[in-house]
Amino acid sequence: MNRKIHPRTFAKGGIHPHDSKLTRDVAITQPVEPERVTVLLNQSIGAEPRLLVKAGDPVRKGQMIAEPGGYVSAALHSPVGGTVKSVTSVRDPYGYPSKAIEIIKEGDQEPAALEPLDFETATPAQIVERVAACGIVGLGGATFPTRVKLEPGKEYRPEYVIINGAECEPWLTCDDRLMREHASEVVSGARWLMRAVKVKKCYIGIEENKQEAIAAMTEAASHRSGVTVVPLKKKYPQGGEKQLIQAIIGRQVPSGSLPVYVGAIVDNVATAFAVCEAAEKGLPLTRRVVTVTGPDLANPGNFLTDIGTPVSALIEAAGGLPEDTGKVVAGGPMMGRAMSYLDTPTTKGMSGILVLPSRMSRRPDPQPCIRCGSCVEVCPMGLEPFLIAAQGEMRLWESTLHSGVMDCIECGSCMYTCPAARPLLDYIRLSKRESRKLK
Ligand code: SF4
Ligand code: SF4
Repeated sequence: MNRKIHPRTFAKGGIHPHDSKLTRDVAITQPVEPERVTVLLNQSIGAEPRLLVKAGDPVRKGQMIAEPGGYVSAALHSPVGGTVKSVTSVRDPYGYPSKAIEIIKEGDQEPAALEPLDFETATPAQIVERVAACGIVGLGGATFPTRVKLEPGKEYRPEYVIINGAECEPWLTCDDRLMREHASEVVSGARWLMRAVKVKKCYIGIEENKQEAIAAMTEAASHRSGVTVVPLKKKYPQGGEKQLIQAIIGRQVPSGSLPVYVGAIVDNVATAFAVCEAAEKGLPLTRRVVTVTGPDLANPGNFLTDIGTPVSALIEAAGGLPEDTGKVVAGGPMMGRAMSYLDTPTTKGMSGILVLPSRMSRRPDPQPCIRCGSCVEVCPMGLEPFLIAAQGEMRLWESTLHSGVMDCIECGSCMYTCPAARPLLDYIRLSKRESRKLK
């Protein structure tokens, strides 16, 4: 029986940007069925996968085309049946060269599925193995290989699976639609994850601006034991792992520690959906829902997308690039990154494509800091962003470490709120990169 819980939230900081969820009522469709896909080799955190195919090889839809290159790494599978055209270098969404496998779609499109697992008899090791074999990574954007999360080591004892359905980034609605349209599969995925890490309790956190998703997920969860939907207050960054854990189980993940240190395994709703597909249908991760949105797009939507589909084709399906486009962002406006190249493939971690007109793309000129303290007030990690950014600007990397730069979750709340338009996050990201080298 599910208990009704009043919306919860995290304690420190946070902001309330307009949610601009233009596509919240647009059902998932698959408007693009590409004739050619380009699968980037580097799509997850960790080691580069090892190629299993070469130019000229025939591939089945769902066939593994690259195996994990280490423990922290994820396999890749062909999203289509066809022939490998080349293993080549293409530009990734940010303009950097990246190794990729180009596949021309041809012939049979029946997926090469693995044998479905039986929920009653599958062992945790079998579930973890299936998650690895199907190349599942965190689909909320982090792209951390999910199998690694499911094997936290003997010193840790997971107590809860927490499914992240907060989707606190403005504009994005892919998780909302997945919960509304595939609630049963998302809850099933959560149950497979619970079984994999041997826990009896799962919470699914959803922000209160998604009432239909809360209703659908609550209904789906009411038929399964141990799963509870927790409505969350609408506050950014509610979907940050540490913020979500604090809101739901009231525990604070210490600096430098992983969620499992406080007993939590956190996965995104799209990851749970992918786990369900892998376990119950034997399907590897070769597609995902991508929100393609923006104020001037003629046909924004939530598109089920074969991974490797050109971003430009999705923008075309959303009505084409408006004339006055100033910026295209991979992800949401807060944590996403501006793309420099649109003829690039979609990846496992790409939850959204946000097309912004020039009026919304310009950054005001930065002014001197007026020490107003707003950035400190909103920082959900209790940091002093103005200080870290100033230290970063002066290249005092060691000082940024002492100021806690590694605890920054790069949510951008500080920069959003700064009246002097200081490029706080730019300096913080730079400091993190340089401090990592120091460490
Ligand atoms: S980006 Fe980092 S420093 Fe800025 S508010 Fe978020 S956590 Fe704090
Ligand atoms: S919000 Fe901006 S102006 Fe205010 S203290 Fe922080 S950096 Fe300075």
